[in-house]
Parts: sequence; C-alpha cells; structure tokens
Amino acid sequence: SGARVRRAQNRRLPQYLERGVDVKFSDVAGLGKIRLELEEIVKFFTHGEMYRRRGVKIPGGILLCGPPGVGKTLLAKAVAGEAGVNFFSISASQFVEIYVGVGASRVRALYQEARENAPSVVFIDELDAVGRERGLIKGSGGQERDATLNQLLVCLDGFEGRGEVITIASTNRPDILDTALVRPGRFDRKIYIPKPGLIGRIEILKVHARKKPMAEDVDYMAVASMTDGMVGAELANIIEVAAINMMRDSRTEITTDDLLQAAQMEERGMLDRKERSTETWKQVAINEAAMAVVAVNFPDLKNIEFVTIAPRAGRELGYVRVKMDSVKFNNGMLTRQSLLDHITVQLAPRAADELWFGSDQLSTIWAETADNARSAARTFVLGGLSEKYYGMSNFWVSDRINDIDSEAMRILDSCYERAKEILEQNRRLMDAVVNELVEKKSLTKQEFFRLVDLHGSLKPMPPSV
Ligand code: ADP
Repeated sequence: SGARVRRAQNRRLPQYLERGVDVKFSDVAGLGKIRLELEEIVKFFTHGEMYRRRGVKIPGGILLCGPPGVGKTLLAKAVAGEAGVNFFSISASQFVEIYVGVGASRVRALYQEARENAPSVVFIDELDAVGRERGLIKGSGGQERDATLNQLLVCLDGFEGRGEVITIASTNRPDILDTALVRPGRFDRKIYIPKPGLIGRIEILKVHARKKPMAEDVDYMAVASMTDGMVGAELANIIEVAAINMMRDSRTEITTDDLLQAAQMEERGMLDRKERSTETWKQVAINEAAMAVVAVNFPDLKNIEFVTIAPRAGRELGYVRVKMDSVKFNNGMLTRQSLLDHITVQLAPRAADELWFGSDQLSTIWAETADNARSAARTFVLGGLSEKYYGMSNFWVSDRINDIDSEAMRILDSCYERAKEILEQNRRLMDAVVNELVEKKSLTKQEFFRLVDLHGSLKPMPPSV
C-alpha cells in the first residue's frame, strides 16, 4: 500500500510549477552584456549533449545578484522561456518555517517535481533567507533553517553534471551566503544585475510601453532622466500609473506628462518607505536647495532638471540634477569660468549650513560636495587655469605640492565667499524652495523655476579669482 500512496503522490499536480511562463529575453530590457551570459545558460539546455560530450561541466546553480526589482525573477523566467523548459519557483522565505522539518521537506518536494518534469529551471527567490551563513541565526529557528539549507545542498549535489535541472537563485546579499552554497558544483556562477543606467531605463520604459497606447512624441529621455536610481519594477509601475491617468481623463493616448506625473508619484511612494525626522528633512532640503539656488546663477549650470530630497538606494541625501551644456560636456572641455562655478555650487551646502545653522552648529551633511569642490580646485590649479600657474607636468607636482594646495585653497575660499553671497542675496528663494521640498520631497524643473521667478534675485557675479 506504501507503493500505491507513492504513486498517488506522483500523480498529484506539481505544486511549484508555474504554468504558462512565456517570457523571452526581448521582455527584459537594459541588460547589455549580461544577456550573453544568460544565453549561454539557455544553451546548457538546448545543447546539453554537446557540452557533455566535450566534457564541459554545466554549473549546478546560477546566482543572480542584485537589488530588488531589477528583473532577476523575470530573467530566470526568460531563461526557461527561451529554452522551452518548465519553470519551478519558490521563495526561500517560504522555507523558513517554524515547524521543524517543513522547510527541508518543501525543498525535497520542489526538486522531486522539477526532476520528474525535467528539463526544468528551479528558481529560488531570496536565497539569503535560507542560505545565510550558518551560525548567524540563533535559537530553534536557526536549527530549522540549517536543516533546510542542508537539504538544499543535498539536492544541488544530486544534479551535478546532469544539466537537466538548473537552479537559478536570486539574492541581494551574495556576501552573507553560507560558503557551502557557493562551492564548485553548487552556486558556482554569479551574475550581477545592477540598477539600470539612463539608457537602460529608456529601454525598460519602451519595453513596457509596447503594449500601451503611447503618444507618438513621448519623450522617454525626459522620463528616464528624472528616474535616476529606479529599477525595472518601478519603471513598469510608472507606465501602469500613467495609463490610469490617461483613462481618468478619458484620453486615448499616454503622454510625456502622464509619465512624468506618474514618475513623481512613484518617487513619493519610495519616500513613504523610508522614515526621516522633520529636522532631517529640513536639513537635507537646505543642502539641496542651496546647490540649486546657487547653480541657477551660472550659465552652464542653470539648466536644472529637478531637485529632490527623496532617499535613494546608495545615496543617503537628495540631489539636484543639472543638465550641463551638452556640447561643452561632450568635448570633455570645461572653461575656467564653468569650473569655478562648479566649485561654487559644490560649496553651497557648506555655506548654507553655516548661514542657516551657524558655524557652531555645523554638521557633516555637506562632506561629499565639499570633497568634490576640493578635488575640482586641484584640477583647476593643475590644469593651469589659475593665474599663478600655467599647468603643471607631473614632474613638478611633487615638489610644488604646497604651492598647489595653497593656490587651491585660495580658490576654494573665494568660491565659498561667492556661494555665501549668492545665498544671502536669495534667502527668500531658499526658504521657498526648502519649504516646498520638505512638503513635496521633489520639485520638477517647472516647479523650481516658478519659485525662481517669484522669489529669486539672480545676479551672476564674476568670480574674483
Ligand atoms: P527581482 O526579481 O529582481 O526583484 P522582478 O523580476 O520581480 O525583480 O521584477 C518585477 C517586474 O519589474 C518585472 O515583472 C517586470 O515587469 C519589471 N522589470 C524589472 N526589471 C526589468 C527589466 N530589466 N526589463 C523589463 N522589465 C523589468
């Protein structure tokens, strides 16, 4: 009767199989060279025999590393879709059960199903939930997790060299994985999927726009340039929200404006996920507002795209996006004047901190921009742009290092005074920008320039260096 039960269990529908997975590489955008690596994994399935005949070992597991929402799950599905194999998936957080033995038996069931329905891709989401280095978790939950992890190791080893079942796991923390997991024959191949850059974001927006009624003249560049730091999941959401906007107004096409509005909403949504005290918001707002208010005085820097204090992964503070004059920038050439202006803008947060909080209340909020200013000032002197020096070959640099530093210091002082002057002259504008930033977290180009028109007193001053 034991055999009968087993047969009945075998006939049971596989519970980890995802049906109708029809994702192709063309659905995943902004991959660049990563795509080649994934195409190779597809070949392990489609040309498995060839690999085996030539004695090339097929990896047991592939680790997709990267922050949430960059498309790791989508990619794993695309591998299965392109190879035309079954896709089994489970989130490792489901393994971590309070009941002893449940996690391990789920792993066993998952792999049994995958093997019975081979060829297949097994996808384990959030591997770090279970694969964290042993001993890091204390108590009985830790014990259970260890049992699950051990089972997973057994299952991974069971497929070595077969290539019929390939495991793909995702993690944001490859660094904390148990070393046993990343040993040869297990997850021995790591692929890093970074957040998309500007071009990547354009491509992702376009992929998601394919199935939507987009206006002919949609400016994807504009949307991509104000979504710095966002990942595919957020970009996909922007398209959905924009579509809802369009429907709400009973229009038939999605416009650039719909997208920009949706992008702002997405950004505000991101904010809600991160808590900050009112004072912190204000301090960050002063920091960013100062850069924008000073930059707007300078011809090469005044083209401000937006100002935000929205927290972003990898960037604790907010930022001001300035669109540089593209011709000058592309030639890699900066004029003496624009370099001085740049230094002045980078010193603005330090100047604002002093003006708004007083020199005895300074924080280090401006540390990064001050650093930029220092290195730009050295570039200025070394490049021969200061009056005193006409460019320095590396040969001289070492014995004139003090001269260079004191000349750089003189330039920094002068730019700092200039930043202070501009800020003092624009206190009303500063207050207005800070208030709106604290309230809305981000200002579009239009919003910012409306405040400049209302409260600004711009008076581009020639530098006195
Ligand atoms: P992850 O597994 O890295 O957390 P997902 O694959 O679950 O991210 O991404 C969620 C959704 O976001 C996808 O289903 C897709 O709609 C969208 N997405 C994410 N990255 C991309 C990308 N590179 N190209 C196209 N769409 C993407």
